[in-house]
Amino acid sequence: MRKCKLCGSQHCRTIYQGLIRNGGLGRYTTNNVPIYQCEECKVIWHDNQFDNVQQYYESKEYREELEGSSEADKFYELHDKETLDKLIYTGTDIYRNKVVADIGCGCGAFLDFLKGVSKEVIAVEPSETYRAIMDKKGFQTYGYMLDALDKYEKQMDVITSFDVIEHVEDPKGFIKDIYMLLKEGGKAIIGTPTDAPIMRKLLGDIYEKKLLFSTQHLWIFSEKNLKLIAEQEGFSKVNIKYFQRYGIGNMMGWIKDKGPGTAVSDEFITETLDNVWKSQCSEKGLADYIVLYLEK
Ligand SMILES: [Zn+2]
Repeated sequence: MRKCKLCGSQHCRTIYQGLIRNGGLGRYTTNNVPIYQCEECKVIWHDNQFDNVQQYYESKEYREELEGSSEADKFYELHDKETLDKLIYTGTDIYRNKVVADIGCGCGAFLDFLKGVSKEVIAVEPSETYRAIMDKKGFQTYGYMLDALDKYEKQMDVITSFDVIEHVEDPKGFIKDIYMLLKEGGKAIIGTPTDAPIMRKLLGDIYEKKLLFSTQHLWIFSEKNLKLIAEQEGFSKVNIKYFQRYGIGNMMGWIKDKGPGTAVSDEFITETLDNVWKSQCSEKGLADYIVLYLEK
């Protein structure tokens, strides 16, 4: 009997058994990987496919497999455009004169923007290559949250982390570390992809194999299990919000071509239509991204 690692329920089932994405698009595992879901808290997970996941994230190999490069310029090119979305998730009014950390910050595409208003900025990033770049830029830099505890236990005002918690082996420990670093009244904002329920409904295992299930994402969370682990680790003020990142043209491209990267663009797909699509996905809790808001 397989036990849920988040809620302890014994009611878990295998929802998929096949090849999954390994790194960037179009690369797959050589063996079938079983994917499990807890029927109680709804978390989806698979067993780690790497021998040493921590070492893997510290290596250049990880970014190269994911993005084709571990160079800073390439990182900025890919990630600078995400900053506006991140500021929409967090708002711009929580950072001024505060002690702020970003967990899994890469080479700091987001932190570069926060640095202008914050009192102090802490960069937490396991990749040595990226950490060296952050050091050079003058950030307080740590590999892991635990390394920052000596200096920053109960000292941080705001902690952000985007597209990271789904990669860590122990998400409860991840939330616990955040709790220890935050001061009373401090806030954490954590974003992670959902299981993109509309895409799964429309495309089933085509979408699951080609995009959703990946060796690097050990977990796919839901509203229920994110709230559960946040409360288990001591947070009493817990909220979530959904955001749809991909436009309606992307969904149409998938239906048309049964694969990623062929978004339909046509004059009927106006900004208005796209905004309606995104707001409906978010309102109905069917969006592709979920953000957890925690206050200590
Ligand atoms: Zn569970």
